[in-house]
Amino acid sequence: MTETIPAILPPETFQCRLLDWFDVHGRHDLPWQHDRTPYRVWVSEIMLQQTQVATVIPYFERFMARFPSVHDLAAASQDEVLHLWTGLGYYARGRNLHKAARAVVDEHDGDFPVHSLDAMAALPGIGRSTAGAIIAQSTGERAVILDGNVKRVLTRLHAVEGWPGRPAVERELWVLAEHYTPERRVVDFTQAMMDLGATLCRRGQPDCERCPFGDVCVARARGEQKRFPESKPKKAIPTRTTTMLLLQDEAGRVLLEQRPSSGLWGGLWSLPQFEASGDLKAWLDQHAPGASLEAPWEAFTHVFSHFRLEITPQPARVSHLDAVGEARRWFDPADPDSIGLAAPVKGLLEALRPFTLSVQNAP
Ligand code: SF4
Repeated sequence: MTETIPAILPPETFQCRLLDWFDVHGRHDLPWQHDRTPYRVWVSEIMLQQTQVATVIPYFERFMARFPSVHDLAAASQDEVLHLWTGLGYYARGRNLHKAARAVVDEHDGDFPVHSLDAMAALPGIGRSTAGAIIAQSTGERAVILDGNVKRVLTRLHAVEGWPGRPAVERELWVLAEHYTPERRVVDFTQAMMDLGATLCRRGQPDCERCPFGDVCVARARGEQKRFPESKPKKAIPTRTTTMLLLQDEAGRVLLEQRPSSGLWGGLWSLPQFEASGDLKAWLDQHAPGASLEAPWEAFTHVFSHFRLEITPQPARVSHLDAVGEARRWFDPADPDSIGLAAPVKGLLEALRPFTLSVQNAP
């Protein structure tokens, strides 16, 4: 055992337990487990990315009936390949499958380069783990896999902290996967790891009672199975600030501006907006000379998917404007027009409504 790997089980014990479990409970009769050519294993591995076995089986069988060899696939049109992929989703997989078939035919004389992990991983749509799975499953040579199922098993067994998409965490998981992978029975071992993840060490409700590692699993001992693997951290979203001008005339009407047709609130009506107080003053001097500013309202935050907008409403009064200019209009909060309004602007105009009514009803 290397120093960096905490002791749970010696690799030989781990392999024995896993293979004993697999012999009884593993999946032995999947279509791609018969006649395990690199081509058939490759197609199944690509189809199985992000898709469950039961869904993949009929697609795999139709695909093999139509494209029995990599040459048939390479000679097909992309339209035909994608047609047979329809319903499986993640269509980039189908496009890459087609590209990779052409690369195998053009650059490798139709033979998958299964004796070189690097050459396999260089084919379109095949990363290091998929390359390892194809090599192990089709040749029986020792190759290591680390797909989503294996990551889940290993992060739980060793309570590996951190999101597995982080390079440092992924490196740690590769070390563990490497540590446990045997020299012999590699075909069964890789299938067993995938089966354990898919059938017992499930994302939602792991069946630890039946797991061959139930007695040594660190996450189980801590009762923290569902905390592993950790989810992708949510990005902190930035906060921007803006001032929205609530310019009212004597009748209580509010000046609105239409947003450009593309971008934030595209085409909706909003309030004149300013990033800096100097911009607001310059705008008033130009468009509403004589306007008087009142005390700003309390700022509030409107949350978008990629940022927060902290809005300070700035009320102001003007007695009269000769013309409001292009893409601007007066809006009466007491008798609102049916126009598209940016959400926080709608709230501000509604807040003004009682005041507008009292102005308009004043004797
Ligand atoms: S004991 Fe439970 S959490 Fe741990 S590896 Fe087994 S199924 Fe997964």
